[in-house]
Amino acid sequence: MSHLTLARSRGVVLLAVLVIVLLAPAFAGGQPALAGGQKLKVVATFSVLGDFVHQVGGDKVDLSTIVPPGGDAHTFDPKPDQVAQVAQADLIFEIGVGFEPWLDDLYNASGSSAKRVAVTDGMNLIAADHEAGVSDAKPGIHDPHVWHDVNNAIMIVQTIEKGLSAKDPANAATYQANAKAYLAQLAQLNAWVKQEVAKIPPDQRKLVTSHDTFAYFARAYGFQIIGTAFGSLSTEQGEPSARDVANLIKEIKAAHVPAIFAENVSNPKLMQQIADEAGVKLGPDLYTDALGPPGSSGDTYLKMMHYNVSAIVTALTS
Ligand SMILES: [Zn+2]
Repeated sequence: MSHLTLARSRGVVLLAVLVIVLLAPAFAGGQPALAGGQKLKVVATFSVLGDFVHQVGGDKVDLSTIVPPGGDAHTFDPKPDQVAQVAQADLIFEIGVGFEPWLDDLYNASGSSAKRVAVTDGMNLIAADHEAGVSDAKPGIHDPHVWHDVNNAIMIVQTIEKGLSAKDPANAATYQANAKAYLAQLAQLNAWVKQEVAKIPPDQRKLVTSHDTFAYFARAYGFQIIGTAFGSLSTEQGEPSARDVANLIKEIKAAHVPAIFAENVSNPKLMQQIADEAGVKLGPDLYTDALGPPGSSGDTYLKMMHYNVSAIVTALTS
């Protein structure tokens, strides 16, 4: 454990003690979670999951999302008020498989008894070594970026509906109806993505992005990942070496891709530099590991997918 991580854990523990002292009177009566017309308290770890929970739970749940729009879950540092949110939660939805490396500490330190649901449980996950050059590949490690395949989003929404209904059976009919309506929109989205992607000739369906976030998108919609600037499933390792950048530029030239993409969760300067040196265009920032801020073209999952796919199709066919 690094000094930084240890210091952070200590901070979280101190905050947690404070929160438990403050909350103790509320739990003294041993009342069930939803007594007195209280709403189910639900935590989603990041903005994309938060949108899914919001679509299914609507106004029946009291939802807190930990990593905000535009935030990077790989490198996130929980804030003090988020210890309280986790402490009070009835239910926590997380991606799992290493996407939220701070969650175990936060959960343990908060003293929370919330049920944790990893929405990737039971999914057909991609092994982390799917791409040559991924430097953090280890046996048994899986790629967490499942939401870029709409089929996986559909599974996640079904998992959320079951999770909410089990914890709050009084509102199960509402959760089922909300999920049904949203699942119909996701099915439409999936058909639209396939139709749009078909506009790109198969041998031009090639992606270069900042970090390795599009493997599920590539598997579902027939793309090839040429390379990533960070050579990693995470963004934690900082800037790549000059040699890695030079290799990526070589790969971009050899693959004849017309454009590469930056992401809303990482610094676009490096991608601009790589694009300039490789003689290709830099497409618009894609929404990858987070939604965009409210009012942006990526402030919901449906909008994020529309934006990403339109941007990819435009950049790779022009
Ligand atoms: Zn990521």
